[in-house]
Amino acid sequence: MNQHMRADQAPIPFIDISAQRKRLGKSIDDAVAKVLTHCQFIMGPEVRQLEADLSAFSGARHVISNSNGTDALIMALMATGVGPGDAVFCPSFTFCATAEAIVVVGASPVFVDVDEKTFNMDLASLERAVTETKRGDLKLKAIIPVDLFGQPADLDGVAAIAKREGMFVISDAAQSFGATYKGKRVGTQALVTTTSFFPAKPLGCYGDGGAIFTDDDKLAETLRSIRVHGQGADKYDNVRIGMTGRLDTIQAAVLIEKLKIFPDEIEARNRVAARYAEGLKDVAIVPEVRSGYGSVWAQYTIRVEKRDALAAVLSTRGVPTAIYYPKPLHRQEPYKRYPVVGNGLPVTDKLAAEVISLPMHPYLDEPTQERVIAAVREALA
Ligand SMILES: *Cc1c(COP(=O)(O)O)cnc(C)c1O
Repeated sequence: MNQHMRADQAPIPFIDISAQRKRLGKSIDDAVAKVLTHCQFIMGPEVRQLEADLSAFSGARHVISNSNGTDALIMALMATGVGPGDAVFCPSFTFCATAEAIVVVGASPVFVDVDEKTFNMDLASLERAVTETKRGDLKLKAIIPVDLFGQPADLDGVAAIAKREGMFVISDAAQSFGATYKGKRVGTQALVTTTSFFPAKPLGCYGDGGAIFTDDDKLAETLRSIRVHGQGADKYDNVRIGMTGRLDTIQAAVLIEKLKIFPDEIEARNRVAARYAEGLKDVAIVPEVRSGYGSVWAQYTIRVEKRDALAAVLSTRGVPTAIYYPKPLHRQEPYKRYPVVGNGLPVTDKLAAEVISLPMHPYLDEPTQERVIAAVREALA
């Protein structure tokens, strides 16, 4: 920090990973040192331990840790046999990996609009997309709802439509691991749930990582096989096409320690979100968590008319912001050729122009947050 900078102008971190490092102290160093001593860098004992811990935490019968959240989606699509000629319904207002995974396995995303209050898949739009897709050549195969910014999508609503149409659900919980849906943690509501441990996610490791959750025994076995090149009875028996999809033992060791404080961090994130809502609800559209849902606040995203002007003013005040997402997927070059419900996504386009995310992490103290709130209020006044 510049010594001569006024304290009330000093830059605020968007996500403070070092504050968490400090809190965890020596525990992670010791856990990593243990791996460096036993040298089982691939599928070491920490990987099995983490999977058991994640299973206990989420309530999912099977947890398959893996390389990252994108591969988790690809592996889930491979394991469920999604491929060329298949339609997979997903939002356009999401991180690109959701649709990218569908294209990687040769299937077609069908872009659905979102609800402007929750940022998540709009069931009326999904119904319309289903009806429209039935008239074309694609086979209705799966739905990938996304729990955007940490709040679960309407998973029962999506599941009911999937069931009626002979489809299944792969839930993209990359931003919502630890969140609750009707009193239960995410991980068991869909046939398969995937998440990411990218450092900036609510539960992040110190590199890339991810996990897949399912209660289906057969699917779990298939996913474990895909994770190691479609391995069968042994290493050199290949029964299907797979990939190198494993989580490093070192990352598992980091996650075991971080998972211990995660419930406390989720509470802290909710306190930060509540303070933002209180401080900003009369000057901006603040995010709403539906009753019966619990968010982990991967992002705290507000909506304002003059979003870019607000970002510019805040940046001069040392308050970083981010735009998730300025350009929806259906407007991006590689995704333009895929179907869009009703040939337009009005809510998605509106949100892309209005959203702005504020600093959000469990260690955002009250005085710092007050500075953010005051700066936003002044800028909007
Ligand atoms: C981060 C993210 C992913 C991908 O996770 P990686 O670990 O970065 O590959 C997928 N979907 C959504 C919604 C995400 O936010």
